[in-house]
Amino acid sequence: MLNEHKVHHLKYLQAMYENRKRFVPVYFKNDFFPFICSTSRSEDMNARFKENVGPTSSLILFVKEYGRIIANMDEKGNLRDKNKAQKVALLNSAYTFEKQARDFYNTEIFYRFQQLVKAMGRYLADEVDKGKVYVIYKSEEHTKDKIRPRKYLVLVDMAQENYVCICARFQKDGLLCVHILRTLIQLNKYTLPEKYFIDQWRRVEKKQVRNATTFIPAELTGSNCTLRYNLLQNVLLMLPQKDA
Ligand SMILES: [Zn+2]
Repeated sequence: MLNEHKVHHLKYLQAMYENRKRFVPVYFKNDFFPFICSTSRSEDMNARFKENVGPTSSLILFVKEYGRIIANMDEKGNLRDKNKAQKVALLNSAYTFEKQARDFYNTEIFYRFQQLVKAMGRYLADEVDKGKVYVIYKSEEHTKDKIRPRKYLVLVDMAQENYVCICARFQKDGLLCVHILRTLIQLNKYTLPEKYFIDQWRRVEKKQVRNATTFIPAELTGSNCTLRYNLLQNVLLMLPQKDA
């Protein structure tokens, strides 16, 4: 953009370009771009795009190609699962959420989740507001080389079982972060609501059945009216009430 519009003299834009590595990830941190921060993965993705999408391709083609690549990757993941189906992965902890993860997730994602469970022990938790606000950070022993340990703010809504972390990993990767898991331990909660096991990462037999056109889970349509009614009722109750 700087070249095309000949705006090199504008210091502000220059600084923005130089610092792009810092602000771009923050800008997109709430969007679903699973695991693309690792260099090898993004280069891999890059190569796949270069084969099929050129600089003159339309946006629609790009999106189509993206969908095709993701579907392809999903299929490969499922294939891997079938090969590993005989083996049941061993659990590293007695926390129910690790067992839930093994039941719901495909093998690759489960191993990622398990790494988080292992990493949890390196973190400490400060209670800022009981049952609502927690600060999670690495214990001193694990931050020797760092000048200042990073602190992560985790917000909790106990009634709705909602957990939000400032790192926004769940929004980006669809996988909870070590900070939220550590917060759960602090809360003595060892079970996760199913909403945190997103459909994309579930093993084939655990995926929700969805209507092909509307993409709404089958359990929310058709014959199961009770559930649908309850869901709509909850939505209605959450709407702001108008004064008569
Ligand atoms: Zn986090």
